[in-house]
Amino acid sequence: MTFATLGLIEPLLRALETLGYQTPTPVQAQAIPAVLAGRDLMAAAQTGTGKTAGFALPLLQLLTMEGPKVAANSARALILCPTRELAEQVHASVAEYAQHLPLTTYAVYGGVSINPQMMKLRKGVDILVATPGRLIDLFRQNALKLNQLQTLVLDEADRMLDLGFSEELANIYRMLPKKRQTLLFSATFSDDIRLLAGQMLNDPLSIEVSPRNVAANTVKQWVVPVDKKRKAELFVHLMRKGRWKQVLVFAKTRNGVDALVDKLQGLGINADGIHGDKPQATRQRALDRFKASEVQILVATDVAARGLDIEDLPLVVNFDLPIVAEDYIHRIGRTGRAGNTGEAISLVCADEVNMLSAIEMLTRQTLTRKTETDFEPEHRVPDTDASGQVVKKPKKPKKPKTSGGGGKRNLGKWVDSGEVAPAEPSIKPVRKVPVFNTGPRKKK
Ligand code: AMP
Repeated sequence: MTFATLGLIEPLLRALETLGYQTPTPVQAQAIPAVLAGRDLMAAAQTGTGKTAGFALPLLQLLTMEGPKVAANSARALILCPTRELAEQVHASVAEYAQHLPLTTYAVYGGVSINPQMMKLRKGVDILVATPGRLIDLFRQNALKLNQLQTLVLDEADRMLDLGFSEELANIYRMLPKKRQTLLFSATFSDDIRLLAGQMLNDPLSIEVSPRNVAANTVKQWVVPVDKKRKAELFVHLMRKGRWKQVLVFAKTRNGVDALVDKLQGLGINADGIHGDKPQATRQRALDRFKASEVQILVATDVAARGLDIEDLPLVVNFDLPIVAEDYIHRIGRTGRAGNTGEAISLVCADEVNMLSAIEMLTRQTLTRKTETDFEPEHRVPDTDASGQVVKKPKKPKKPKTSGGGGKRNLGKWVDSGEVAPAEPSIKPVRKVPVFNTGPRKKK
């Protein structure tokens, strides 16, 4: 199959040739004809599958072939993204695909001045990429009208709900024309995403290009058990041992990012960090320098690193496991993209066992553990498996102080001698999705 057989027009084929795309990926093969035929879409496609081109190419074609010229302060297509970086990245891809087309594209997001965005929107843009909050601000200030909108794309819809954008999405939904085409892309499909899809989509075609909730199998994953206080030391040890050249590292908190970056820089290692507290320009600069291999180690929180496409990224390290199990899939999806192989290493301490268990259950695999010599944890990480069970090995029985009793302390409760230690109850992945249309937006 080629892009030409999917019915794409010549200016798009030319752009794809320049980019070196030869064959459509599975999501593109399914999405392109459906979108060209005007269908709504509900696509379960994880990051790295080529989903951006899957929706952008047919969207560009439809806009070129039909529809009136864009009016002032209007957009003909809107692509909603959860983060600023993703909005920038999606916009960069759309602009590349559109290079031979007479269409205008633009990206708007928060964290930067709104005035230039308002100015730019005056003439109208054919394709607007936006984060939900800034889009609403622009709408409320009359800088943007949506009555000419013909297509809405919700990119990484699960992440938008994770980030607490359900209220914004409900508001945007009310601003949209009833007659439109809607394309929803999500890496994972929770009940809340289905609810959102039920409200926003009209008789959608469902596309699923990889097993639900299973991480890309091009990524080799394993876990290194370690005590919490020795994680940074282990990281440096592994980095030197493996001669890591370009690593994206995920830490749980902003402070965690800063602390690790300080430590690495103190050792003369070329590291930088991105998180939500940093100004957008600083975040983008750190990211650009990392992509250009001018920074060797980029440490990030989940919010800052979502959806980033870094060519040939060989390695992702989870310095901390994510609290939300689905984030693990997104994190490791930064490597092994577009058919390349990658590695994902998680440094896991005993405190994180429930998160590990939730990840294994979600990805339906038991992650291999490789203990590093001289870093064996004092606090053992209990055994886990894909069933979601955390099996704490019985501690050595203490010598009974007095005779009688005949029991031993195990798992925090008394069991009779000889009784098999019960497993802990199943650990479910942390439920994190606010119900669409309810609840205030969480503070980031
Ligand atoms: P995405 O999942 O949209 O973030 O895309 C992941 C990466 O795959 C991006 O770097 C794209 O440029 C690349 N890509 C998308 N489609 C193709 C294709 N058909 N052939 C080669 N590379 C592609």
